[in-house]
Amino acid sequence: MTRMVLLGPPGAGKGTQGQMLGQRLGIPQIATGDILRDAVARGTELGQKAKSYMDAGDLVPDEVMVEIIRERLQGNDAQDGYILDGFPRTVAQAEALDEMLEAIGQRLDQVVHIDVENEVLVERLSGRLICRDCAATYHVRFNPPSKDRVCDKCGGELYQREDDREDTVRSRLSVFTERTQPLVDYYQQQGIYRKVDGDRDPEAVLGEILRIIQAG
Ligand code: AMP
Repeated sequence: MTRMVLLGPPGAGKGTQGQMLGQRLGIPQIATGDILRDAVARGTELGQKAKSYMDAGDLVPDEVMVEIIRERLQGNDAQDGYILDGFPRTVAQAEALDEMLEAIGQRLDQVVHIDVENEVLVERLSGRLICRDCAATYHVRFNPPSKDRVCDKCGGELYQREDDREDTVRSRLSVFTERTQPLVDYYQQQGIYRKVDGDRDPEAVLGEILRIIQAG
């Protein structure tokens, strides 16, 4: 069992790795971006609050995100570990998470940073396709679905995320540098930070993350 955080810029492969790790380890992948997109699609109060930030490539306010995670971590399926994908994204979120875990006598086991250069990220994100139903990800060139715009896994419709357009991608990358990069120091100080090269075959990245988990 492991409680881990996947850290990394948009397009690094957090979603892909999170899904594969979740299946392999039998623990949930908790992807805050997926939770928010689902809320937007359903038009809930949370969705209405989050939409304008997401469309602009900005971060949704910390208080909103912390409450989402507080609730989600109480789920039955999260009692034997989880993979956090896309949370925390600011030092304030990381501190709130630590406090939340400390209050119930728990702590994070690993923080894995999937590192990829900006130019590669822009190329990946601009060709990325997402399944509306199961959130699986594809790429028009690097990982195309077998049938145009149809998810191989569940038959759902594939679409391009609004925030994967090039101008929004550039602002998301600077948001990462300014707001999320400081988490490297934060977790390094806790001794649980590990960096992996994400510019490789997804299976190779997965193998390395699994070895990190095994090494404890
Ligand atoms: P993602 O799918 O992880 O790229 O997230 C998509 C968008 O959702 C981000 O660009 C943010 O607007 C918002 N978001 C997701 N997770 C967080 C978070 N932990 N803190 C603030 N905003 C978030």
